[in-house]
Amino acid sequence: MLKYDIHNHTHYSPCSNLKPEILLKVAKKKGFNGIGIVDHHTIKGALKVKGMNKDKDFEVIVGSEITTNYGDVLCLYINKDIKSRNFFSLVDEVKKQDGLIIIPHPFRKSLNKNHTFKIPIEKIKNKIDAIECFNARMLPLGDNEKAQRLAKKLNIAGTGGSDAHFRFEIGTGWTTFEGNFRKALKRKETKYHGRIFLGPFGGLLSYLRNRLRLYKIPE
Ligand SMILES: [Zn+2]
Ligand SMILES: [Zn+2]
Repeated sequence: MLKYDIHNHTHYSPCSNLKPEILLKVAKKKGFNGIGIVDHHTIKGALKVKGMNKDKDFEVIVGSEITTNYGDVLCLYINKDIKSRNFFSLVDEVKKQDGLIIIPHPFRKSLNKNHTFKIPIEKIKNKIDAIECFNARMLPLGDNEKAQRLAKKLNIAGTGGSDAHFRFEIGTGWTTFEGNFRKALKRKETKYHGRIFLGPFGGLLSYLRNRLRLYKIPE
């Protein structure tokens, strides 16, 4: 059985201070077999981590998290930045790169007034590869369970991730599967796990970091 935390950010996201080398080191130390890096609107952080990884038994998935008209979308296994902010053109763009699409935290309410949408999972279920059924930052607590019920009802694969933006969050949510992650997702055989402990505190730190402009995005 393999264990991946597929939802991580680095300091290429304004809401995170995680250095790529720290993310890689901590995930490996915690016994993970792979990680996904999904900085907001850039694959720079993911490429850095991938470049640093010398262990062929540890997979680094290059991705990014894009805010679309339907809310946040995780794009994995991509090799170029995603330009689209419209959900359906994003799907085309990601498929052209042979990437995967996962809807993170499908029930999270946005703090941004422009993003009060609710993602119509039922309508788009054939366009996506999974929904995130466990997100370690999720509040209120019942929202992960709502996502889990929805995935079961619609027979969509489920994943788990920490949504780590800070060191203490790494590995607090994860996905397990046998063999190959992409194939396990296609077969809908992934399992999700995690615990919500300091995640919401991480969410608050991200909010403040963003709001008070405490970040400096590296070159
Ligand atoms: Zn963020
Ligand atoms: Zn995220």
